[in-house]
Amino acid sequence: MERTRDAELRARAAKVVPGGMYGHMNGANLPPVFPQFYTEGEGAHVTDADGNRYVDLMCAYGPIVLGHRHPAVEKAAAAQRDAGDCFSGPSPRLVELAELFVDTVAAADWAMFAKNGTDATTVSLMIARAATGRRTVLAAAGSYHGSAPWCTPNPAGTTPGDRGDLGYFTYNDLASARAAADTAGDDLAAIIVTPFRHDAHHDQELADPEFARGLREICDRTGAALILDDVRCGFRLDLAGSWEPLGVRPDLSAWSKAIANGHALAAITGTDALRDAATRIYATGSFWCSAVSMAAAIATITELRRIDGPALMKAAGTRLRDGLAAQAATHGFTINQTGPVQMPFLTFAEDPHLDVANAWTSACVRRGAIVHPWHNWFMSTAHTPDAIDAALQATDEAFAAVRAGRP
Ligand SMILES: *Cc1c(COP(=O)(O)O)cnc(C)c1O
Repeated sequence: MERTRDAELRARAAKVVPGGMYGHMNGANLPPVFPQFYTEGEGAHVTDADGNRYVDLMCAYGPIVLGHRHPAVEKAAAAQRDAGDCFSGPSPRLVELAELFVDTVAAADWAMFAKNGTDATTVSLMIARAATGRRTVLAAAGSYHGSAPWCTPNPAGTTPGDRGDLGYFTYNDLASARAAADTAGDDLAAIIVTPFRHDAHHDQELADPEFARGLREICDRTGAALILDDVRCGFRLDLAGSWEPLGVRPDLSAWSKAIANGHALAAITGTDALRDAATRIYATGSFWCSAVSMAAAIATITELRRIDGPALMKAAGTRLRDGLAAQAATHGFTINQTGPVQMPFLTFAEDPHLDVANAWTSACVRRGAIVHPWHNWFMSTAHTPDAIDAALQATDEAFAAVRAGRP
């Protein structure tokens, strides 16, 4: 597998980009065989800078939900690009998209738009604080809510004051959330929580319905806002909102990754009770109203509704999970597959330093499938049975290679 061009780009980046790359896309976070640079995407496939083609089970860490370069989405985006993207005011797409969110998401009476998931979670906290006049926000320890100073997982460059008004509980431990709420007392503005526990470096954990209902009850009792951080799960599990199957409705929801199939967009949705607070805060950005990404989002959500995207991703994810389980058993590996099948994750038993996970994912990459050793993967509706079977061919050979000690 050729890696010349990728290595050359990394060497050039090392000179002009801090650390060669920042954040989760720094190639140093992954075994060396993983490409850092990609040049092309098409449906369920991506091509790296050296021209190697893969089945893509990472979907850009979430944004690609209909497959790379989906024709209907790119047609809508191109038409808008021809008309203009960035004006001194929003385009009609903003109103159309807000209407579509309100029509699609059960707990949404209104919508605002931004660029990144971090914008959406941060604005949600502002709205909750504006609504309640209180400061304290509770979050699950270790949950990812973005890279702003209040939530970035690496505290370098932040102050204790940046997190001074946060309290923490343990995901799925309602008693710990009640205790944190008691400590906050009459200063509790909001609880922010992800639809299930999808912390990097951990097996995924579905939300205990009792836990979800309990958080709703704490917020109802104290007048705090329940914020569902649906940035990662949104529109993969349930188009009406990821906690709809549990019957728990948030007051505010934060959205981004999948809502525009790879175009840069985030959304905050909320209930009527929070509308006034959302009106009073000042939140904006030079590119928050760019019309191309909104046209792409309208096409994405319309298509997800038309084809029942979550059901297709569930079928693809089930085929993958069943295939991996059978392969692991055949090759004598004990594995854990956790989380919803639309957002797969696989770890190996007794692999504390990820030696097996690193070897196996590297072997998968060498054989043409992009997976990840310590972050959840993502299904898209472009993962047809053929695409899944192609990925399973690579994973099967990878299990065999690791078993033989030649990954
Ligand atoms: C990715 C993510 C964010 C941050 O979104 P960005 O677009 O990277 O700023 C927030 N919350 C969750 C749950 C995420 O997965």
